[in-house]
Amino acid sequence: MLWRVGLCLLLGSMGMSLPLTGPGRTAGRNKLLLISFDGFRWDYDRDVDTPFLDEMARDGVKAAYVTPAFLTVTSPTHFTIITGRYIENHGVIHNMWFNTTTSEKKSYWQTQFVNEWWDNGTVPIWITAQRQGLKAGSHHFPGTASTYQGEKVQVGEVEPAIYNYSNETVWRTIVDKVMGSWFRDKDLDFVALYFGEPDGTGHKFGPDSPQRKKMVKQVDRTIGYLRNSVKRHGLEDRLNIIITADHGMSTVQRKDTVNEIVLSKIPNFTFKDLDFHLVDYGPTGMLLPKEGRLDKVYNALKGAHPHLHVYKKEEMPRRLHFSNNKRILPIILWSDPGYLINGYIPVQFNRGEHGFDNEGLDMKPFFRAVGPDFHKNLEVGPFETVNIYPLMCHLLGITPDAHDGDLNNVRHMVVEVEDPVQRSASRVFIGLGSVGGFLVLICLVVVVRNVLQRKKPNK
Ligand SMILES: [Zn+2]
Repeated sequence: MLWRVGLCLLLGSMGMSLPLTGPGRTAGRNKLLLISFDGFRWDYDRDVDTPFLDEMARDGVKAAYVTPAFLTVTSPTHFTIITGRYIENHGVIHNMWFNTTTSEKKSYWQTQFVNEWWDNGTVPIWITAQRQGLKAGSHHFPGTASTYQGEKVQVGEVEPAIYNYSNETVWRTIVDKVMGSWFRDKDLDFVALYFGEPDGTGHKFGPDSPQRKKMVKQVDRTIGYLRNSVKRHGLEDRLNIIITADHGMSTVQRKDTVNEIVLSKIPNFTFKDLDFHLVDYGPTGMLLPKEGRLDKVYNALKGAHPHLHVYKKEEMPRRLHFSNNKRILPIILWSDPGYLINGYIPVQFNRGEHGFDNEGLDMKPFFRAVGPDFHKNLEVGPFETVNIYPLMCHLLGITPDAHDGDLNNVRHMVVEVEDPVQRSASRVFIGLGSVGGFLVLICLVVVVRNVLQRKKPNK
């Protein structure tokens, strides 16, 4: 009889121990469009009427704001969005490529074509996607021009050297090209799309200017046009859209209102102690002191101005994740909001700047998402932009490469449904579970009956 009881328990445990898979991940086969509107600060919709952004928020997800990587400048923070890595880990540490031996520097646009600046061990999501059988494209997104570990984005377009980043008619042509030619005709699964505004206007006129507000209305109209284009091209039920930015914008104060930071005026500091420097580039700077002069330069600058932060590379606050990379120079400088770091004399006259500490609210970009895999009318709290990469991989159903984000920080935005394979598997498991339970019941009935029958003669 013991063997019967054993058999019953075995059958029962087989059926009952099989996992009942519940909701875990998305079906993961919808297309994905990532859009960056450069320099769109999280609160730019608060002083401007933005009907299309408001409509998108009702139809999808809106985050309070997102925290970009430090330093908060265009190429580094964009590369964080598409790799999920902090800047010290992906190595695109500045908008400008530079050579400390020859003192050569290249502009933002020229640096797009310095392959080794980008191809530095970390690959953007379009490479992750292509390696796993998906088709990807990138339109003007920083990093598009580069080849990564021998592979380039399948469909890519880089803007020419002289380019008007703010032409609304051109924006609409680009939107229709991406929807019609790239997503519908070429059947791409993922596209990264970059627009250079409202950054340009924010720099030139300042974040509080009427010109910036006008440009936010242009962005809003473009979002309305884009969502209409999605419908016209029959993509509404199979395209997820994420719209975000690389950093915010802060108003620059001038010498009539503040004591400007001018390095050449600081006592005991001299450019003669440096082999190379990167200053006059907004609120951040990096210095390479000559052999044996690091402490002299550091001691001269540290505490020299109440709004200038001076750090040795290895002493940088860990929260900024801007230290552990051989490209980062030995001394790092940044200024408080409102202040710029000038070398000899102020040479930049922008009314708005970014590059400041990513803790400041002025540096936070916006984040919106809409599409079949996103919840509707959901407002979520702030999160770091390193989490956008694992979110995008999750939506595309691909395995992410090593990154610094965590899907658990953002997965609450996504409607979790079982994928078809998991669903049929769980049906089998539930079926087996029921059969197992039924077998246990039959066995128990048989065993009890046998016991009772054996007991009868004794009576
Ligand atoms: Zn930017």
